[in-house]
Amino acid sequence: MTVGKIPFNKPLVNGSEIAFIQECLKSGSLSAGGDFAEKCTHFFESSFDFKKCMLTSSCTDALEMAALLLNIQPGDEIITCAYTYVSTANAFVLRGANIIFADSSADNPCIDTAEIEKLISPKTKVIVPVHYAGMACNMDEIMALATKYNLWVVEDAAQCIDAFYKGKNLLKRPLGGIGHLSAFSFHETKNITCGEGGMLVINDENLIARAEILLEKGTNRKMFLRNEVDHYEWTEIGSSFSASNITAAFLYAQLLELKKVQKHRISAWEKYYSMLEPLAQKGAFQLAHIPEYASNNAHIFYLVCDKEKTRNELIKHLREHKIDAAFHYFSLHKSSFYANRNLSIPNLPNSDKYTSCLIRLPLFYGITDAEIETVVSAIYSFFQP
Ligand SMILES: *Cc1c(COP(=O)(O)O)cnc(C)c1O
Repeated sequence: MTVGKIPFNKPLVNGSEIAFIQECLKSGSLSAGGDFAEKCTHFFESSFDFKKCMLTSSCTDALEMAALLLNIQPGDEIITCAYTYVSTANAFVLRGANIIFADSSADNPCIDTAEIEKLISPKTKVIVPVHYAGMACNMDEIMALATKYNLWVVEDAAQCIDAFYKGKNLLKRPLGGIGHLSAFSFHETKNITCGEGGMLVINDENLIARAEILLEKGTNRKMFLRNEVDHYEWTEIGSSFSASNITAAFLYAQLLELKKVQKHRISAWEKYYSMLEPLAQKGAFQLAHIPEYASNNAHIFYLVCDKEKTRNELIKHLREHKIDAAFHYFSLHKSSFYANRNLSIPNLPNSDKYTSCLIRLPLFYGITDAEIETVVSAIYSFFQP
């Protein structure tokens, strides 16, 4: 079987989005907090045991809400990894925080938990673990540090739908359900999407009441809607973070297909892995290392090459074979924004390695066996011409 151009990603569209949006239009409830939004948050609260979920217009918004909710002030310090998307750090910088970057682990792009404690100071307020590729950070160690130093934990769970952590007590817990707060993304690049969308998960009950106010532009409108007050008014700062009911209708159509989507993505991921393993064993590159406490939600299939030159030539080689592969983050500690703030630039060799050497292969719902075989044979022809 011949295959045409293989894109890096094809956003998931399962077909019932339009019907759900039509239902939403008929209902006349278009703005935030409608039936579909409720269906989505109920889905997450019941399937993943998250305490309280609020749909937002992006993961970036959910992270910005988290920073407001935790009362982050100028000068507060936030510890996260440098190998991440800009929003992880920017959400806190908007409140005046300083970001203290930790390195990634040597064997995967998640934060190296052994580095965190050295970076904690009296100004530290939050640890923000980013579960790269939906593969868990070491949450037992992170939560233990948070308890010891009285810190908040906000999980950047943007990539973590249907991803789990199995801790020391061997209890399987969903990522996004462990930190005090967590943020998910439904951007078109994620496993489940609504174009642009996100969700704040609140696992600490004490934060729920204020989160409702922040979400409602700084008003107690939610209390008014529950008949708890006779009018609503400005009580706090806030913003317009919510997703519309139209967006929620699109998202709900996809959530109903989550099991099917995940089954396919995981089998595609595993096919790549088993076909590329022999080449990895010869030292051509490293495959993803999944820690024993992490599950795999097949969000990203990546390789780590030994040198930047190899990685870039491989991307070029694949492009010549009509295959779109991609590098990923440009580590934030090397960004021009960070350099322009005249901060001392930490030495983070593992972040640098992933910036220079990591490559992501095409992976999306519907990718065929033939397409995967085409990608794999192009990789073989690069390393064993
Ligand atoms: C996608 C992503 C984001 C941003 O999500 P948006 O919904 O586009 O705001 C943040 N952090 C990580 C780790 C991501 O992968």
